[in-house]
Amino acid sequence: MQAFNKKCVVLYSGGLDSLLACAIMHSMNFEIFPLFVQTPFYKKDTQHLQNQLNLFSLKLNTIRNDMEYIDVIKNPQFGYGKNINPCIDCKIFFYKQAKLFMEKTDASFIVTGEVLGQRPMSQRSYSILRSIEKRANLIDMVLRPLSAKCLPETAMEKEGIVDREKLFCITGRARKEQFELAKHFNITDFESPAGGCLLTDKSISIRIKEILKKEIISKEEIELLSIGRHFKINNNHFIVSRKKDETLLLINRFKDNLPSIRCHQAPGAVGVFVDEPTEQEIDLGGAIIKHYSKKTEYVAYEYNEKDYIFKPKDIDIKTLEQLMIK
Ligand code: SF4
Repeated sequence: MQAFNKKCVVLYSGGLDSLLACAIMHSMNFEIFPLFVQTPFYKKDTQHLQNQLNLFSLKLNTIRNDMEYIDVIKNPQFGYGKNINPCIDCKIFFYKQAKLFMEKTDASFIVTGEVLGQRPMSQRSYSILRSIEKRANLIDMVLRPLSAKCLPETAMEKEGIVDREKLFCITGRARKEQFELAKHFNITDFESPAGGCLLTDKSISIRIKEILKKEIISKEEIELLSIGRHFKINNNHFIVSRKKDETLLLINRFKDNLPSIRCHQAPGAVGVFVDEPTEQEIDLGGAIIKHYSKKTEYVAYEYNEKDYIFKPKDIDIKTLEQLMIK
């Protein structure tokens, strides 16, 4: 049997359940390494995550491996949920990242805030949880303190390193017991359980499906998925800002690397292509920018050595809607 120590990696998301998992392990005097696995589709303010952990004097660790994660979304072994969320494969990926971190920190097991029966895919049953453990090579190395008392005893409990009496038997989607526990641990700052993962968002899922059809996906394309309005012009993607912060982001972050169209000497939308466009694509892109920037007649195209101003035609709503990915 594996020899356990008093160090554990907690898979941390900023949600109440994973914060409670930290609190419970903290109350049992474990050395805790909270790990947030960042993905391009799981937007979190890491400073806020750190602030939440300050209550227990814990330091947040983050790990990010976008390209590997894209492979998981492209070919999930266990399929998708309601949208393009491959929750079981995603959990296996998270577990694998936690295992790597466990080896780095000399921790001997991982802890999650999973609650049996809370989510339809990955937390549906004990056999699913076990199968995720198995595929991540973490059999008998995962503790779920919120549901542990209604799950079979883990190796850590059998060995006496974790006191089963200090664990809980919470199941299902109601969160009453978690709120009571939060009070007990003086936790007031936590995120609502829903939200965070863009893969569960219907409109963004449609864009992601379009991008996933490509053989090679660039980092820029991944970053752009959650920004602006998306258009498909032939096989090219054109992303247009909707508001000032998106305009600034497209200008500051992408304009120098990607072909762009912006209003000439007037405020308004900015658009970027993910691949170098043909002249016809530039004309259509210009018409789209003109449509969303009422104060301009002229737009400027810019990419590498090419840099020119032109007057786009008007675009009719029907064509615009046909081009829009929604
Ligand atoms: S909701 Fe998103 S982050 Fe959570 S398990 Fe599913 S795919 Fe992964």
